[in-house]
Amino acid sequence: MNRFNISLLTLSMIFVLLNVGCSQPADTTKEKKAIFIIVDGISADVLEKVDTPNIDRIIEQGAYSRGWLGGKAGRYSQSPTVSAVGYNHVLTGVWSNKHNVYNNDISDPNYNYWNIFRLFKHNYPEKSVGVYSSWLDNRTKLIGDGLPQAGNVEIEIHYDGFDVDTLAFPHDYGYVQKIDDHVATMAAQSISSDAPYLSWVYLWYTDDTSHRYGEVEQHFESIKVIDELVGRIWDAVQNRMENHNEDWLVLITTDHGRSLPDGRGHGGQSERERTIWLVSNKAEMNTFFNDGHPPVTSIYPTVSRHLDLEIPETLERELDGVPMIGDVSISDADAELLEEEKVIEVTWKAWASEGEVKIYATTTNEFKTGGVDTYTLVAEVPISDGRARIDVAEMESNFYKIVFEAEHNTLNSWVVSETESDTTDN
Ligand SMILES: [Zn+2]
Repeated sequence: MNRFNISLLTLSMIFVLLNVGCSQPADTTKEKKAIFIIVDGISADVLEKVDTPNIDRIIEQGAYSRGWLGGKAGRYSQSPTVSAVGYNHVLTGVWSNKHNVYNNDISDPNYNYWNIFRLFKHNYPEKSVGVYSSWLDNRTKLIGDGLPQAGNVEIEIHYDGFDVDTLAFPHDYGYVQKIDDHVATMAAQSISSDAPYLSWVYLWYTDDTSHRYGEVEQHFESIKVIDELVGRIWDAVQNRMENHNEDWLVLITTDHGRSLPDGRGHGGQSERERTIWLVSNKAEMNTFFNDGHPPVTSIYPTVSRHLDLEIPETLERELDGVPMIGDVSISDADAELLEEEKVIEVTWKAWASEGEVKIYATTTNEFKTGGVDTYTLVAEVPISDGRARIDVAEMESNFYKIVFEAEHNTLNSWVVSETESDTTDN
């Protein structure tokens, strides 16, 4: 073999190697899809002890973490551990002080904090989305399907409203279980045939049993029932991934924990009510997911990343979550006004050792009513510092929005004086 042949051989080997090397990132050519499932009212410690073979199948190839919700306890963003409130944290990626849902009435949600479906449609108006849910309000009020004030977003595919369909589902013994069974069947069928790019499944039965009986055998049995329904949906998703060129992100969570001693109630701020759990079908969750105790508001930026959604900067600066896939820079942003010193002390947790954090401040909240806030860059410090002091002598106010901008993600925190923060009585 002469040199020329050798180099040809080497070249072709390199070519083969390159091809092999490229077969992994070929993932980028796959259609990205995402589905999130909210299973109502299962405490983390209960889920962890009940036998759930289907959820375990997902965790085996993916990941599990405990998480939290309820906003900053006792502070401006404290949010009741109530169902619709919890769903809206997932949908909007922000706490109640922004999305303005404090109970199940959903009387005046603030649609300026775009929900994930609106963000999706902003990016991909032609791509389909779906909702599979017992509760009608989830689509019509929280998402605001078709409402001008919610951006005229159309949820093309929906199987829901069975809670108010008393003809098909008379409210007799076991009707909640029947509804969930139907929701899961329709979701699995629709995923197989319609395969929306972004969808939400809501299952209710586990909350019903806990309110009725407490965290006892009937509740544990209902978790096993739900686990089987999740299994049906997961089978449909797997089928899509195996037979179509699609890359699905599946996230499962709950909308609140439950109160002691018997688990019948929820709504308060106890650690157990604020503790939730997160399941992902992806093994490659980041260190923040695995070690960082993620808030449920993190689902929004995580789904956004998976689906390559561009988030408008003004909206991104309002988000209360941290991406759970891909690179992450900072989490746990906080800000406190030291009134005597006229200084705001800001703190964060660093997930990278190099780089800077830019701190911006504004004393307005125009975003809340659809306007734009003008931010001032007030500090630029090494990310590893984890804290900074902002002199606000020239910027006196009883309200500040502080934005923390780092290479891979953005956070925010409000500073609200005591009298201002006492407005969460709706
Ligand atoms: Zn609930």
